[in-house]
Amino acid sequence: MELTDSPTHQLTNLRTRHHGWIEVITGSMFSGKSEELIRRLRRAQIAKQNVQIFKPLLDNRYSEDHIVSHSEMRIASENVRNSDELLAHVKDDTDVVGIDEGQFFDPNLPAACNTLADRGKRVIVAGLDQDYLGRPFEPMPQLLAIAEYITKTLAICVVCGAPANRTYRKVKRGGRVVVGGSDLYEARCRRCFELGDRAAAPATPGETHAPLRGSRRRHRAGARAARRLR
Ligand code: ADP
Ligand code: ZN
Repeated sequence: MELTDSPTHQLTNLRTRHHGWIEVITGSMFSGKSEELIRRLRRAQIAKQNVQIFKPLLDNRYSEDHIVSHSEMRIASENVRNSDELLAHVKDDTDVVGIDEGQFFDPNLPAACNTLADRGKRVIVAGLDQDYLGRPFEPMPQLLAIAEYITKTLAICVVCGAPANRTYRKVKRGGRVVVGGSDLYEARCRRCFELGDRAAAPATPGETHAPLRGSRRRHRAGARAARRLR
């Protein structure tokens, strides 16, 4: 019997052929999801792996053919209409598939990512975990459930400086999907998100809301402690 036919060899072959997995990078807007996605994809390109990068057609805020972070990092990408089109575009010899704005895809995105990972590809998806009301943003929760690796990213609350995991919509219009940048959205911590417009409003002279001021002081102390931790 040839060595290549041995059960051990076959097992090794099986293991190395199917080495795909799913990584998810998720958090609020401005938390660095795109930066982290671009960083991982650049490293794969440096390692001479075949990389394909996709974003949903809906999200062409900054560029038609690039993923662009809020800090102006960019990487070339292809637009796709849905997860079926994404699957059809992935080439056999592709090693790494990057996907940005996962929350704008249809409910079949997790199944498509599973298919790609089962074919041996490293799949990296970035996307919002919550919508502008703090509700889980499908299909990201389903992706988180099946992913091997999860990275949660946090922004800085623009009101108080604490770590922020919510995306606050500054305008009172539209449904779940209103595409925009810092013109429409800002990163906020849990408390400033709940306070809504009251969090940003400067205190008017003679205003007496001692409980709020007291809790704000505690909140600021919390924010300072969080900064020390970073
Ligand atoms: P995401 O993809 O999560 O929306 P990006 O990767 O596009 O985030 O952008 C992250 C960058 O946004 C940061 O490195 C920083 O330069 C910038 N930024 C703007 N506002 C904030 C904020 N409130 N907190 C943190 N970073 C911010
Ligand atoms: Zn805050």
